[in-house]
Amino acid sequence: SIEVVDVRPHERHYGVYMVRLEDGTERIATKNLTPGKRVYGERLIKWGGDEYREWNPYRSKLAAAIVNGLKLVPIREGTHMLYLGAASGTTPSHISDIVGEKGLIYSVEFSPRVFREFMEKLVDQGRRNVVPILGDARFPYQYAHYIKGVDVVYIDVAQPAQAKILADNADYFLKPGGYVMLVIKAMSIDVTAPATETFKQEINTLKERGYEILETVHLEPYDTAHAMVIARKK
Ligand code: SAM
Repeated sequence: SIEVVDVRPHERHYGVYMVRLEDGTERIATKNLTPGKRVYGERLIKWGGDEYREWNPYRSKLAAAIVNGLKLVPIREGTHMLYLGAASGTTPSHISDIVGEKGLIYSVEFSPRVFREFMEKLVDQGRRNVVPILGDARFPYQYAHYIKGVDVVYIDVAQPAQAKILADNADYFLKPGGYVMLVIKAMSIDVTAPATETFKQEINTLKERGYEILETVHLEPYDTAHAMVIARKK
């Protein structure tokens, strides 16, 4: 693979790094909380005595949003998050790197098969700031007893009515002043086409539930169907 010539902190985002390659291209990465361990076949980069994991925007919609210029990433050292739709933990693993030992990511996934893969990876890596929860995001009361207040609720469940599910979870778990992050089905492949009805409806639901939309970023070319929306309760 192409040699790394520089690693430096991202100008804007805490815990995100810019990796410059010999050919002049740049990638993003996070500092590996569990050195030596890969999560999804990503490249490990040793630099200045630390190890970084390349964060692939084709595999993680949050990475795609950051590469596409998302300004507001409300994730810091020590952030506590509720992550709905963890799948096998690709994006949660990078958030786990960012929030560090004092952070926590309650990660809900409802497919038992996918959840088992997620658990196996967590056990193998020894990531202690990720709390896996086998549960259905549509029914937050089912896992309410596991979770304390969080700073951020993130949703990527690839289901209709995500905004409602998000707001219902936020009602239970989001601390006052907290943020929500919503991966939403947005556009046709043509970026100049108007937003889809689904997109408008989801945004409306958030507004009706008292959220102010702070930022929206489309994920092309990494993902042709989705956008990332950041909002905050008014
Ligand atoms: N966010 C992941 C990442 O970036 O690494 C990918 C998430 S994938 C697009 C959507 C996941 O949501 C699937 O694993 C699916 O099983 C899960 N899911 C769908 N409906 C759900 C629900 N109601 N509750 C919890 N998880 C759900």
